[in-house]
Amino acid sequence: MSQEKLENLGLDLPDLPLTTVGSFPKPPELKEARKQNREGDLSDDDLDEQAREATRFWLDKQYELDYDIYVDGEQYRGDMATYFAENLQGFEIGGLVRSYGNRYYRKPIVVDEIVWEEPITVDWWRFAQDYADRPVKGMLTGPYTMMDWTFNEHYPSRAETARAFAAAIRSEVEALIEAGCKIIQIDEPACSVRHDEMELVKEVVGQVVEGQDAYFISHICYGEFEKIYPDMLEIPVDNFDLEFTNSDLYLLDLFRDDPFTKDLSFGAVDVHNHRVESREVVRELIEKVLDVVPREQIWISPDCGLKTRTVNEALGKMEVLAEATRELR
Ligand SMILES: [Zn+2]
Repeated sequence: MSQEKLENLGLDLPDLPLTTVGSFPKPPELKEARKQNREGDLSDDDLDEQAREATRFWLDKQYELDYDIYVDGEQYRGDMATYFAENLQGFEIGGLVRSYGNRYYRKPIVVDEIVWEEPITVDWWRFAQDYADRPVKGMLTGPYTMMDWTFNEHYPSRAETARAFAAAIRSEVEALIEAGCKIIQIDEPACSVRHDEMELVKEVVGQVVEGQDAYFISHICYGEFEKIYPDMLEIPVDNFDLEFTNSDLYLLDLFRDDPFTKDLSFGAVDVHNHRVESREVVRELIEKVLDVVPREQIWISPDCGLKTRTVNEALGKMEVLAEATRELR
């Protein structure tokens, strides 16, 4: 599908490219360091050094497990919305609210014009890419999800707020591409939960990616896909990263009715379960998608970020995913 685009970017990926969604758990010593930093007992520089050490740890593991597209693991981020709000102009950070499941975050409040002043993720991306021997994805939260997970006290409407986020995120995409990043993920988990604003999702993601020379992925999870499919295929990205372990594979039924026309990062291990799946279970799951979606469109991935697992659980799931993928190759 997007093979030609990947080739034009100089990316030569194997059969069933293996990747992860984005976040990895923070090692206990990094969690402790973040707490000390919040309490004023550890400098920002010392915290950054510990985050760099944890990033190297996760890059080493992706190398050892032979993943094809790496992530930096987001060891320096608290959560996916507040992190960006803290690094853009125009926000105050509010109290704890629930995003989904048992995930909580400090909800940002837009109190002034949203302004992107300087690159937010580029130094971390460059650090990871300099260390890594394979492509590292740039990881951004999409404009629609940023808007939906934010209180707005400045713009006249949800649409105007989303467009302001899109302009800021477009600047970050440009900075990542200028630094050499070729695969950029723009997560939009909110668009499957609120499924009545798909036109706005398409518009603002388009505002971010239009004319930008990179391969774009969007991770969307845990929603009512039957209400946004196949409409969601018009979100202008190359690859959707979707979860399949908790959905009874009803997505595959949707794909039988309306063929999946983009690349698909197939989420084949469950990040919300402590138990590590067997290789057979994972392989059989992947075989099911291979019956429905052409093989050259399939990437292999966990079904969400692994940050909620322990380090060993995350490694166990990554290993079984890699083994199942190698068997299928
Ligand atoms: Zn997810």
